[in-house]
Amino acid sequence: MACKYFTKNRNINDLSPRMAKKVKLWQKGDPDVWKAIFIDIGLRNAEHQNCLFRHGFSQLDGYKYLSKHQLGEAIDIAFRKAFVRKTEGIDSIYPEKKETWQWVADSAQKYGIKWMYPVWGWDRPHFEDDGNPIPQKNWWEKAREWAMAKGITNGERPHDHLTRAELWETLKKSNFL
Ligand SMILES: [Zn+2]
Repeated sequence: MACKYFTKNRNINDLSPRMAKKVKLWQKGDPDVWKAIFIDIGLRNAEHQNCLFRHGFSQLDGYKYLSKHQLGEAIDIAFRKAFVRKTEGIDSIYPEKKETWQWVADSAQKYGIKWMYPVWGWDRPHFEDDGNPIPQKNWWEKAREWAMAKGITNGERPHDHLTRAELWETLKKSNFL
């Protein structure tokens, strides 16, 4: 990789406050994914960006056209070698299978972080703040997940009224009498 003489900043706290919060929530919310991946780079300065541009690794020159990395709103993801070796049998921090990346992207999306590969058609490691506020969990979310896991409810229509028929069905499924 070109531009090796630039130190990669992997510090979450150097990201924008919103992106930092999103990444932290993501790490806390999906530890299984984070056992497989790490942040290869977060914040990047103009000189580093320009170096990547000159070597053909980015289309943004860092001065006239800024990368989201320069704003702390993007992270590049890499996978732990042991994980890729185990799942794909190759010695790399970048899996070849698109499903592996998609698995991370589906997880990231829940925390307001977007995988840009489907948009750009290149640069698989790049994830950025989707521009929306930090997703909030509802106060009843834990109870909903519990009831779904128990098979008592399908978890749909959280704000609808409960009919008498649905109450009977719920009591019967709860099976505590
Ligand atoms: Zn990137």
